[in-house]
Amino acid sequence: MSDAFYMRWREMNRTEIVRVENLKKYFPVEKSFLEKLLTRTRGFIRAVDDITFSVLRGEVFTLAGESGCGKTTTGKIILGLVPPTSGRVFFRDREITNLKPEELRLLRRRMQIIFQDPYASFNPRMKIGDAIGHPLEIHGLASGLEKRKKVLSMLERVGLTPPEQFIELYPHQLSGGQRQRAAIARSLILNPEFIVADEPVSMIDVSLRTTIIDLMLDLKRELQLTYLFITHDLAVAKYISDRVAIMYLGKIVEMGEKEEIFSNPLHPYTQALLSAIPVPNPDRKRRIIELKGEVPSAIRIPMGCRFHPRCPFAEEACQKEEPELTVVSASHLVACHLAKGSEHA
Ligand code: SF4
Repeated sequence: MSDAFYMRWREMNRTEIVRVENLKKYFPVEKSFLEKLLTRTRGFIRAVDDITFSVLRGEVFTLAGESGCGKTTTGKIILGLVPPTSGRVFFRDREITNLKPEELRLLRRRMQIIFQDPYASFNPRMKIGDAIGHPLEIHGLASGLEKRKKVLSMLERVGLTPPEQFIELYPHQLSGGQRQRAAIARSLILNPEFIVADEPVSMIDVSLRTTIIDLMLDLKRELQLTYLFITHDLAVAKYISDRVAIMYLGKIVEMGEKEEIFSNPLHPYTQALLSAIPVPNPDRKRRIIELKGEVPSAIRIPMGCRFHPRCPFAEEACQKEEPELTVVSASHLVACHLAKGSEHA
């Protein structure tokens, strides 16, 4: 597909493929024997705390934020790997929040995941070709020679050539980059429409990251895929995304088109994350925002704006009132009392 045709196709298809509404996931905290005796109240880790967003067909929508902000849990809930505490998930306008196992199995053909650790996601005793072809057998789509043909073609597509050689190898015989290519091949073998890519390049050599991301972008165009991309690395988010949502302690604090988020970040947390990205020219002057302290525990979320204990701009109202995610321009939403469509002074 040419670039121009792809752009036209993307504009024509800006329909929602996935939507989550008021999604929450609270994990109960295990208490010690003594704690159980002393208190009856139950503690919860508020991993995902009331988030709403849509992923548009053909785009790369990125959930970004520090580890523990709830981005991976969100991806797993969408795929039905973790049940939500409350809220709703839709795929192509059909609610898929609490599907029965058989319905979920059928949906898996259309929604797949690429995991962070390509080594752990493969059975070390299974040849790469068998692992990639396994989903075809599970779903009764191909076996024998037909399966082999599909696996060879997919290996070639992800750049593992000659495929006849790679199909016979075990995971430990592949480099980190090759294993992640194999993981991508496995996620695409069922011809899905939607992929959750959970930190897919964070465990790969820095020198190989761009080639894997470029491969993912090429495959997206070629196979008309949609990605929910999960990363802690804003430099990676800037490279791959169409739209970005920044998460902090289970909430989306800023969301919008990539250009908006990176050229005009309005939330102090986004500004701090962006100011931490290394720049090619260290002499270039830019404002560095240093955050105070550590990310608070998701068991004891601060009152008011949950970012206020670390925010350099916090005011009295920030300690009392939680800011809503508010539209500041056609393609930009932010949850901060001080955001009025321009950067903080
Ligand atoms: Fe900082 Fe207040 Fe905005 Fe929260 S609402 S990010 S504490 S300025």
